[in-house]
Amino acid sequence: MTEHDLANSQLGSLSYDPAPESASIAHLRPSYGLFIDGAFTEASSHEQFATLNPSNETTLATVAQASSADVDRAVVAARRAYDTVWSKTTGAQRAKYLFRIARLIQERARELAVVETLDNGKPIRESRDIDIPLAAAHFFYYAGWADKLDHAGFGADPQPLGVAGQIIPWNFPLLMAAWKLAPALAAGNTCVLKPAETTPLSALILAEILQQAELPAGVVNIITGDGSTGAALVDHPDVDKIAFTGSTDVGRLIQQRVASSPKRLTLELGGKGANIVFEDAPIDEMIEGIIDGIFFNQGHVCCAGSRLLVQESVADEVLRRLVRRVEQLRVGDPLDKNTDVGAINSAAQLERIKELTAFGESEGATRYTSSCALPETGYWFAPTVFADVSQSHRIAREEIFGPVLSVLTFRTPEEAVAKANNTKYGLACGVWSEKGSRTLWVAERLRAGVIWANTYNRFDPTSPFGGVRESGFGREGGRHGLEAYLDV
Ligand code: ADP
Repeated sequence: MTEHDLANSQLGSLSYDPAPESASIAHLRPSYGLFIDGAFTEASSHEQFATLNPSNETTLATVAQASSADVDRAVVAARRAYDTVWSKTTGAQRAKYLFRIARLIQERARELAVVETLDNGKPIRESRDIDIPLAAAHFFYYAGWADKLDHAGFGADPQPLGVAGQIIPWNFPLLMAAWKLAPALAAGNTCVLKPAETTPLSALILAEILQQAELPAGVVNIITGDGSTGAALVDHPDVDKIAFTGSTDVGRLIQQRVASSPKRLTLELGGKGANIVFEDAPIDEMIEGIIDGIFFNQGHVCCAGSRLLVQESVADEVLRRLVRRVEQLRVGDPLDKNTDVGAINSAAQLERIKELTAFGESEGATRYTSSCALPETGYWFAPTVFADVSQSHRIAREEIFGPVLSVLTFRTPEEAVAKANNTKYGLACGVWSEKGSRTLWVAERLRAGVIWANTYNRFDPTSPFGGVRESGFGREGGRHGLEAYLDV
């Protein structure tokens, strides 16, 4: 062992040789059109915009900016496909297509993982082991439902809604596309999907997969563009349902816009999840759970455990171990298989994180930021923990959507529940305790759509996910996820 290694091991950190995944498997085209009626086509305005690699600010490809005329073309294609083909296919036939899509995602998993990491900035370990396998799993799961809708608990022969307009965010690009498309198709709807402007590439590869799967033309249309494209989709009169995942502000706007129409709506919005730690929780697992709860995907997670509520008796020890663990997180090249925390998705998001963390300091919280070296180009934010946070601080109330944890303390279970519920959001919470009875007591009183016990950020296609209050309404995943696309 060299002196340097010894020093590192004494500090509790290890040095790793680079282990980069090759980007050559990505095979990206220089530019992409819109996927409408089964084929790639140019935007009517011929307008294009660049999608960047946030880890080094290089352009990966240019994509089309869909106008309202393009949105109309996509909706017309989806309507025609619904009327002439998809509403006439049997559930077993729809299942066949969904199984094919799932298998093709698996076949192209490595390519999709690399593309996702290039376009989003997330560590390859996460896109490879979480995003892409879960996206395939969603198609497999809903393939199983397509011919069993009679048994889903929504009455005999439940009917689809028609054309679904689906707008998704940039934090889990392919996975969010799968969450939207798989249940909609299983239930018999046709779709127009709009990926986020900073992460359109995996959805465009999915379009190629839909072609490979010989999905009938028009059943799924994928249109790229910014918020104006999303707004045109929301406003289109021939769309029967809007499914949106994104910020609470845009969700509120969409709710207002569809309020005077017969469109159905589901919204999956922001969050400020509380991870509640009792003194009897097994400390090693709990520290890993806290880390995973906030630093997974750079904290770009609507259900992130961004508020740590820790029982006062163990607060000092938990904070000490947490800060030490944060110091060990490997931040850097997202394509490196050893990387724990990748790049922030965009310059705009980085600005927002910086702005909110500056409030953390000015409002009096104590800041611990990892001393890790950050790359010189690209968008980076070192993992950060704020202690001495009070409930009125902006970092305890607003969604930061970045690698920033706010630590608050409590004494009794009642106080923990009151603090956890003291938010306008209600998406997810975690409870860490050895006592099942205590976990259940707390869980019953938390106002959130998802409660994890002794774990965090665990996703499964069979399990419904969604929020209450300003985190939105409607569920995705599980049998419940079908309801959002059936006329029930
Ligand atoms: P974030 O603030 O995290 O980037 P947004 O809610 O702005 O999230 O974006 C989520 C998705 O909503 C993206 O696909 C974006 O293009 C789209 N979007 C933004 N503004 C609107 C709007 N006014 N109407 C419909 N969709 C929108």
